[in-house]
Amino acid sequence: MTIPDDHPRAESLRMRERLIEGMHKNIVAEAGLIAHGRGEAFDYLLGEKTPELAFTQEQVAVAMLLSAKHPVISVNGNVAALCPHDIVKLSEILDAPLEVNLFYRRPEREIAIKKILVDNGAKTILGLEKEFQTDISEISHLRRIVDRRGIYSADVVLVPLEDGDRTMALRKLGKKVITIDLNPLSRTSLWSNVTIVNNLIRAIPEMMDIARSMKTMGKQELEVIVTNFDNFQAIGKMLSFFNERLSLLAEGDLIDPTKE
Ligand code: ATP
Ligand code: MG
Repeated sequence: MTIPDDHPRAESLRMRERLIEGMHKNIVAEAGLIAHGRGEAFDYLLGEKTPELAFTQEQVAVAMLLSAKHPVISVNGNVAALCPHDIVKLSEILDAPLEVNLFYRRPEREIAIKKILVDNGAKTILGLEKEFQTDISEISHLRRIVDRRGIYSADVVLVPLEDGDRTMALRKLGKKVITIDLNPLSRTSLWSNVTIVNNLIRAIPEMMDIARSMKTMGKQELEVIVTNFDNFQAIGKMLSFFNERLSLLAEGDLIDPTKE
């Protein structure tokens, strides 16, 4: 379907198209479409732009990834369909390998996700070779399979769009978890060390810019940024942001489109 550029919600419609097309190509799971719908609802509340607070969360996340010993970026179907090029670039800038990690693991999905990442310049992709796969026994479904060279031995894992159970399991294994989740109240958001409440489509390119500018910083300087951050407090501030924004809209900032 061609989406006209002047459509008021063109960007949002394009994202939906990418996901639907991704589903037909086996990249996106059916449940991925439902997850996207949940995310969209929260993005309306954010006004579909990055709030100042999310920039701070992104800075802390990048500082944590740059100061990690063994950072890994987990990729699922939605990420691969929505921003394959940017996730490959971010992995290069941060020197953090990509690992394909699927809730609904099927060989055809693994092949399709590998293809889109390779087409977008990925050189190494972890998580797909049987000989390196191992189990996180804390999780019962197929997503428990991780790569010994990747998530299994990582100290910091970036999991854009993660399920609550797995986030909890990764934390229990002693990993530091960074997530990008538009829902500040999901279990993933609450269980992560750093929660970026933003649409991943905006967060990933912003993190690329932040990483480029932070790359020259020393380890100690980066660690101070991380230590000074309190994730739970930041989530609280984000809830206040939603609250204030909705109050302002309710009190008169809302424009009636029928009267324009
Ligand atoms: P949890 O398992 O963490 O309690 P959940 O079951 O609602 O939450 P999952 O389906 O496991 O959520 O994960 C999807 C999450 O990703 C949702 O919280 C959704 O809001 C969020 N999400 C969907 N699309 C995007 C996007 N483009 N950017 C950021 N977050 C998104
Ligand atoms: Mg879930």
